Amino acid sequence: MDETYAIIGGGQAAGVAARTLRKEGFCGRLVLIGEEPELPYERPPLSKDFLTRDYDFARAGINPPAFYRDNAVEVMGGVRVERVDAAGRRLEWRGGGLAFDKLLVATGCRPRLLPPALGDTAGVLYLRSVADARRIKAALRPGCSVILIGGGFIGLELAASARALGCEVTVLEAATALLSRALPTGFGAFLQQVHAGHGVRIETAVRPRAIGREGGTSLVTCADGRRFEADLVIAGIGVLPNDDLAVAAGLGCDDGIMVDRRARTSAPHIWAAGDVTRFPVALQGRRVRMETWDNAQKQAAVAARNMLGRESTHDEVPWMWTDQYDTNVQILGFPSADCETFTRGRLEEGAFVLMGCRDGFLRYAVMVNSGRERRPLTSLIQAGLPIPAQSLADPAVPLRELAARQVA
Ligand code: NDP
Repeated sequence: MDETYAIIGGGQAAGVAARTLRKEGFCGRLVLIGEEPELPYERPPLSKDFLTRDYDFARAGINPPAFYRDNAVEVMGGVRVERVDAAGRRLEWRGGGLAFDKLLVATGCRPRLLPPALGDTAGVLYLRSVADARRIKAALRPGCSVILIGGGFIGLELAASARALGCEVTVLEAATALLSRALPTGFGAFLQQVHAGHGVRIETAVRPRAIGREGGTSLVTCADGRRFEADLVIAGIGVLPNDDLAVAAGLGCDDGIMVDRRARTSAPHIWAAGDVTRFPVALQGRRVRMETWDNAQKQAAVAARNMLGRESTHDEVPWMWTDQYDTNVQILGFPSADCETFTRGRLEEGAFVLMGCRDGFLRYAVMVNSGRERRPLTSLIQAGLPIPAQSLADPAVPLRELAARQVA
């Protein structure tokens, strides 16, 4: 008899896994259960084109709508799975349930919320889903003022979009410099300058202590006593993995569902993929959680192949990108503060590559308007071989030549 595979989650990892399962020959029953009502879609446009343009949301679909019909993928949108019985291989939700042979958990992350103790936090907006993006789009009227709490990628991409829409923007970041947890402060300072050049006010080392509303205006009072006012407050202060179902089901979890390089969880018959997972990375020698488009895409395909009994592992150099105004930033590898950094090119020119080395190996690279260097830099990081730092920083030595030498 045909087997039943279930996918919990309706995001990118879920959509990619469904496609891979069918493409690679799974003929049984395939059921995708997602809490959001939409078919799986990509999130990167939500903070950018979706807000600033007349964006056709259908373009964000992971698969065209016809894919699900033509490939007999049963999509149950707007359904929240409430229980996974790992041993009994059964899912339950209000009013229904499903017996499965194999399961993929791709439940993603949710925004970390500001603590309610701050006061009137009910009006603060967050961005994760298209429903959130619609609320933000409706609120970002030209001329309105907005405070963005958190100067991470969500905060900075929203800052650029809000400026494009003619809003007055203030970013409040808790750390002393932008993106300074893992990346060199010079890079944060560069991005801060880019934003300042577009009229964004960025305040660092500020942490909101109270949020209130007075006559339609939001007031954010910070721990150092400073007060900021705006029409609207949006917070992007990180995300938390939606691993509660997995924890309750007894799967091994530690701030995310623990999987191996084949996306297997601690339970037989159950795999997990995307933002919700914590997986081992050989290059790092530890497990990481990775909240990126690229990880969801690749790990979901690996999970699907392993569900089909094929050997496939997830061990590639991580990649992410962000677009803010006309600045394209791409990050490869694992930035960490204990690396020594080298710069190729000049920050003042707005196109450069920052590279981080540890123990003589290239660990990460940040390409600013230098995406053409992605391929050689990926090879150099992947090769995991010692590399002369002076050649990395010397623009006279093409990176592709270095990579070719290294791999040979
Ligand atoms: P991030 O973790 O990237 O950034 C959150 C920022 O908010 C950090 O700098 C953090 O500082 C700061 N912060 C935390 N608490 C407070 C506070 N109370 N007041 C002020 N600042 C605070 O999370 P985001 O929400 O920006 O993004 C969520 C996830 O989605 C991230 O993993 C991100 O990488 C990913 N993402 C990726 C994008 C892309 O690939 N282009 C685009 C958007 C999001 P500290 O570090 O000191 O805690």
